[in-house]
Amino acid sequence: MALVIQKYGGTSVGSVERIQAVAKRISQAVQSGDSVVVVVSAMGKTTDTLVRLANEISNNPSSREMDMLLSTGEQVTIALLSMALQELGQSAISLTGAQVGIVTEAEHSRARILQVCTDRLERHLLKGEVVVVAGFQGVSNGEDLEITTLGRGGSDTSAVALAASLKADRCEIYTDVPGILTADPRLVPTAQLMSEITADEMLELASLGAKVLHPRAVEIARNYGMPLVVLSSWSDRPGTRVVSRLPQPRSLQGMEIAKAVDGVEVDRDQAKIALLRVPDAPGVAASLFGEISTQNIDVDLIIQSIHEGNTNDIAFTVVNRVLKAASAVAEAIAPSWRTHPSLTSEAEVIIDRQIAKVAISGAGMIGRPGIAAKMFKTLADARINIQMISTSEVKVSCVIDEAECDRALHLLSQAFDVDLGSQKEITSRPYQVNQPPVRGVALDTNQARIAIRHVPDTPGMAAQIFTLLAQKNISVDAIIQSQRCHIINGQPTRDIAFTVAQSDEKLACQVISELDRQINCGQVSGYKAIAKLSVVGAGMIGHPGVAAKFFASLARENINIQMITTSEIKISCVIDEVDGIRALQAVHEAFGLGGKEKITIPI
Ligand code: ADP
Ligand code: ASP
Ligand code: MG
Repeated sequence: MALVIQKYGGTSVGSVERIQAVAKRISQAVQSGDSVVVVVSAMGKTTDTLVRLANEISNNPSSREMDMLLSTGEQVTIALLSMALQELGQSAISLTGAQVGIVTEAEHSRARILQVCTDRLERHLLKGEVVVVAGFQGVSNGEDLEITTLGRGGSDTSAVALAASLKADRCEIYTDVPGILTADPRLVPTAQLMSEITADEMLELASLGAKVLHPRAVEIARNYGMPLVVLSSWSDRPGTRVVSRLPQPRSLQGMEIAKAVDGVEVDRDQAKIALLRVPDAPGVAASLFGEISTQNIDVDLIIQSIHEGNTNDIAFTVVNRVLKAASAVAEAIAPSWRTHPSLTSEAEVIIDRQIAKVAISGAGMIGRPGIAAKMFKTLADARINIQMISTSEVKVSCVIDEAECDRALHLLSQAFDVDLGSQKEITSRPYQVNQPPVRGVALDTNQARIAIRHVPDTPGMAAQIFTLLAQKNISVDAIIQSQRCHIINGQPTRDIAFTVAQSDEKLACQVISELDRQINCGQVSGYKAIAKLSVVGAGMIGHPGVAAKFFASLARENINIQMITTSEIKISCVIDEVDGIRALQAVHEAFGLGGKEKITIPI
């Protein structure tokens, strides 16, 4: 007999008929011998409707009252589903998050789960009852027992948290598509179902716009090694398995807040090639990385900052062994841009062998902007200058001077309480034969780009900027420092750009403008009409040519790339919002991810 957590999303329980169909599926599982805990979302678009109602009354409703309001949606579903189960002769009981004891921090609208009490659940399960739990909600840990919600899409997280706490055999997420697909089928009609994906890849995809799973649900599954499967509530197809590596044993207390960082890594075997003043035009990154991939050279980090005038800077890192070949390609291609109409002065190639990459990693840093800020501050306090920054949801990497490497490693492991045993030195990058170089693509159109010009190039600047943003709880992604240095009033400066959620754009600009007065940098500008397009695949490690193919497919569509950032398993490009869907479809096609099977989506 297995203990299974089944979660049903809004569309799956969107009508009385759907609730009855779901009840049948659950009772079949019980008849086959399983114990079942069910987590449900609000019916259909209920949560959106409630949000609209609130906005009709207030432009800025209090987050406490919003939680009170939104949590009602799930409460309707649990009662109806329990009734439907009872109608089928299956004993069942509905419980709110508070009744179960899903204890969260007292942060309204984005609470993290601290622990799930399992006593009451276990009592009901022992009696052979199906327990139907309201997803997306919890109760605060303070004296006041406030109702909290976990953030939009958070029912997935409730389900996996319950599964981990009950040490269930698996967690099944039933939704309106057959599983995890190579892209959102609403945007890419040729998207295909994958039979499995690693939790690392899914974490990236989920946080880069694939809303089929809440990223925090993937994080918990990964941390506790919980088998997770995503499947359709309309069919009996097996869906997609999200596979995790065997996790380190981990306490269930402080589930979503314990230990944000579990690794500090350093890679000394890196060299940086920067190309300054390359034309800001479609096809430039494609031709550079196209040439590099013909030499079979694997690039690691790639960063392209916001343009200045008509030109961009592109920097990338490679292992020292291939530096000569890579720089030869860069030197050879730079003069060919001289004739480009947008180029007023010549592109310049700068090579730096004396660099190292330090990185902190851990699934717990998702949505916790203070973690990156703490890394920058730790380096700044030690007067270590950061040359390049690249971020993903679960990793922040900084390129620093090689001579500072040991000090950085020591200080970061101290700051994040990571013991020496879990520190890793990356020296080899094994080619992962079983992993496709690109597993899926995602588009995020909810991001805004923020640029700060002429930030003094001294240790501590990134720390100041991102600490301030973290204090306002603004999560930052795709942080990019320009390669180009400007001397302003005798002081070297660089531009910094990054992306934030569109809803945070105004506040982020405000916060930085205030800082601006103190540190005296240039203008701060926000721009909303962007889209972030990303390709994700664990197999891109040690597989040259993925970036080249990505950029070439955009060039063929005549789409200009505004920014590039990478992590080991993803490449993201910021492009114009109007080009988003066309670009997504082109890139999906270029990587051969499309197929013939038509994915049907219930309306
Ligand atoms: P639920 O209400 O069941 O939680 P969601 O709407 O939150 O469902 O998530 C399912 C939706 O996610 C799908 O209908 C699909 O449009 C979207 N989606 C985005 N990216 C992907 C992807 N890579 N694979 C599958 N679905 C995706
Ligand atoms: N009902 C909530 C939402 O729409 C939570 C969920 O469905 O996961 O965001
Ligand atoms: Mg969802």
